[in-house]
Amino acid sequence: MGHRLRSTTSPAPATASPPSALIAALAAAWPDATCELDHQDAYQLLCATILAAQSTDKMINTLTPALFARYPDARALAAAAPEELEPLIYKSGFYRAKARSLIGMARALVERHGGQVPADLDALVALPGVARKTANVVLSTALGTTVGVVVDTHVTRLSARLGLTRETDPVKIERDLMAQLPRSEWKTFADRLIWHGRRVCFAKKPACEQCTLAPLCPSAEVPGRAAGAAKPAGRAAKATTAAKAKTPATTKAKPKATAKATPKAKPRAAKPAKPAKPHR
Ligand code: SF4
Repeated sequence: MGHRLRSTTSPAPATASPPSALIAALAAAWPDATCELDHQDAYQLLCATILAAQSTDKMINTLTPALFARYPDARALAAAAPEELEPLIYKSGFYRAKARSLIGMARALVERHGGQVPADLDALVALPGVARKTANVVLSTALGTTVGVVVDTHVTRLSARLGLTRETDPVKIERDLMAQLPRSEWKTFADRLIWHGRRVCFAKKPACEQCTLAPLCPSAEVPGRAAGAAKPAGRAAKATTAAKAKTPATTKAKPKATAKATPKAKPRAAKPAKPAKPHR
């Protein structure tokens, strides 16, 4: 139980718009958002998520078919030699550290869990190379057990911009999100936030004028509205209503159009690099 977060004790961050409005807006924008790492089962998703650190899902999806053909399950991966595994994952960056993590993770699965991926957060984060974000991804996407909110670089950035948290530590951000969102939304909200971050709310230059969340966003940089002008929570509804009344055509843009306008937005994250150790 040491890794469980107690959402009821989370501090209430200043939120410019009610989470329910953001939930609805994100659902309208990205109804089909889901994990973009290709996988057939929990083992594959666990491997892919470890590999995705400091890389992109698109890149990882080009590597995993060969990886899973060579190492179809935890027992095969546990017996892998690093020099055989590394060429298969080289393009993901940090390939030496990731090879160590993958082999260590697989060995731990074999030794502790009969080669199966445990549907338990504490057991998952005890595996080499597996931190809380990875555990939440695998649990919620592959094992149907949502016990937290996935907090990756996109969720971190967008949660702050949308006024859902003032924290910078992923664990504290997760605690804030769990406190404000209904549990039934924990998975889909994160999936949609990640899609929004990849396609609209870019790290360096968010496409606020094409963003359907702009009327709800205290960080929106749109004409006639000062950037970073976060409004106190009590004024949020009025601000939202007023913004909608002005009906800026750009904010009405349908997300699919937005996605086309910024096609296949390359997740700004990550060129594979080689230094030290992947952040998971
Ligand atoms: S309005 Fe701008 S900062 Fe806010 S969520 Fe949209 S793109 Fe991001």
